[in-house]
Amino acid sequence: MNLKELQGFAKEENKRLEQHYKLEADEKTTVLAHMTKITEETGELAEAILMHLGLQRKAKLVNHTHENLEKEFADVIYAASILAEKVGVDLDSVMTKRIEEIKKRTLGDDE
Ligand SMILES: [Mg+2]
Repeated sequence: MNLKELQGFAKEENKRLEQHYKLEADEKTTVLAHMTKITEETGELAEAILMHLGLQRKAKLVNHTHENLEKEFADVIYAASILAEKVGVDLDSVMTKRIEEIKKRTLGDDE
């Protein structure tokens, strides 16, 4: 899946989420709820990273799998795509632009 496909999926997901949760919240509240969801998913990724590094309690480590770590990365990206779509950010074009900026900055550091 590429970023354009991800954003198309996010657009459909936003429609589904609004219908499923019968969102009556205003636009600002909905955006803040999506931002909160990214924070939740980022926390879950942090926990998966701690498990990956063996830095969690033994009781939690029992449940760790690499598949779970991968899933948490996907959850963060999914949540970010939902919010990006909601606020009109084109992920494909912004990532292309940002990666070029990072490459230029990195090349500049090497000189
Ligand atoms: Mg998650």
